[in-house]
Amino acid sequence: MEKLTMTVEAIKNGTVIDHIPAGQGLNILRHFRLDEAGNRITVGFNLSGSKNTRKDLIKIEDVHFNDEEASRIALFAPKATVNVIENFKVVKKIRPQLPTTIKGIFNCPNHNCASHGEPVDGTFFVKSNDGVTRLKCFYCEKSYPMDWVMSYR
Ligand SMILES: [Zn+2]
Repeated sequence: MEKLTMTVEAIKNGTVIDHIPAGQGLNILRHFRLDEAGNRITVGFNLSGSKNTRKDLIKIEDVHFNDEEASRIALFAPKATVNVIENFKVVKKIRPQLPTTIKGIFNCPNHNCASHGEPVDGTFFVKSNDGVTRLKCFYCEKSYPMDWVMSYR
């Protein structure tokens, strides 16, 4: 008989990202374009976390994150656990650390920023205070909440 608590399927090989704050799971999928990659993905949104919190969880088959990519997960989920799965077993647990800088991923939301109109990669310093992540533009030195920068294209 199947366990009733099992809300998402086990995967053979791949990655399970756990302890994602509720609402950020979709952002992670979009950021890594996982929804377009064609891999089998199982997601759980608003699952019960510890202490009556809600969390998201993502299982991706046949995808492994390198250290740089894992650190980008921390931008969305500072307390995430990245579980590496091989043959249905967790062979490695990564607790991603925030990167100190991030380059070539996001553009500066400041319309007057010198980075626009120049052939340069958007470059930000990453700062975290009390769980709130802010990105400071290398070019105009303005600081923005992570969410603003993410939603700016
Ligand atoms: Zn800027």
